[in-house]
Amino acid sequence: MTKRLVLPSVTRDVVTRHGFHFKKSLGQNFLIDGNILDKIVEAAELDDQNGALEIGPGIGTLTQELCENARQVVAVEKDNRLLPVLAETLSDYSNVHVHHADVLEADLHALFATWFAGMEVSVVANLPYYVTTPIVMKLLEERLPLRHIVVMVQREVAERMAAKPGGKDYGTLSIAVQYYTEPELVTRVPESSFMPAPNVESTVIKLKVRKEPAVQVQDEKLFFHLVKASFAQRRKTILNNLQNNLEPKRSKDSILAALEATGIEPSRRGETLSLQEYARLADQLLQS
Ligand code: SAM
Repeated sequence: MTKRLVLPSVTRDVVTRHGFHFKKSLGQNFLIDGNILDKIVEAAELDDQNGALEIGPGIGTLTQELCENARQVVAVEKDNRLLPVLAETLSDYSNVHVHHADVLEADLHALFATWFAGMEVSVVANLPYYVTTPIVMKLLEERLPLRHIVVMVQREVAERMAAKPGGKDYGTLSIAVQYYTEPELVTRVPESSFMPAPNVESTVIKLKVRKEPAVQVQDEKLFFHLVKASFAQRRKTILNNLQNNLEPKRSKDSILAALEATGIEPSRRGETLSLQEYARLADQLLQS
């Protein structure tokens, strides 16, 4: 590998030489902290049999490390101004494909079929914060053959992903992420680890993708609709939220009956219910 891009002086040199200007609107904060870079790569547990998908390679700081540690790397970058930079910084590697696209619009199944056939893949990325949740939800909902998702996100978002029932952080994102994965906080990251420094703290989170969802439900769509309805107004009871927000509408009596059959007090708030309780309630609503 040539000089590590993660050194602040090297990053500054590459950026200046290419006349590159950071775009805040694309969440462009490049990593300049070698310790954090090493922790991300270690958490991803890469090996020479498997693939790594990076979202937003920037100037290629993390990408170079992925190329050193994985069999095949695919890096999806939206900003075309970074393509000539990446052509230079990744020129030593034959196991990387840079795909110019907005990841939210990219056909990831097609990319996987072309580049990762027969491999298990980890997503490893320092995500653009303005689209973290849609990106993570796309990765999970498309049911790609993923092993781990190791991502740098805003600290509050990581805490919501890993939150357990009962606290203010627990909500629809916690339930969706924990339905598909087992989250584990890897490390907190200060603002000074980036160029330019963002005005929020960050956290690296590792999501171990489950072979089967955490709970079995008969109707997944109803399960997620129920969860969303239960959190529509956080301060209201589960009964109140379900009466007001379930579609199609259900009578108070039928909701009360479903809550009773599943042993859930109607006066509880949505933020106190576990995934298992939501699963039981969803299956019960299907029958009534
Ligand atoms: N990986 C680099 C690093 O760690 O230094 C850069 C990370 S920077 C936080 C986010 C990167 O995502 C930028 O390169 C940005 O251009 C890219 N990006 C922003 N929105 C994107 C999108 N919708 N699809 C793909 N890449 C995107």
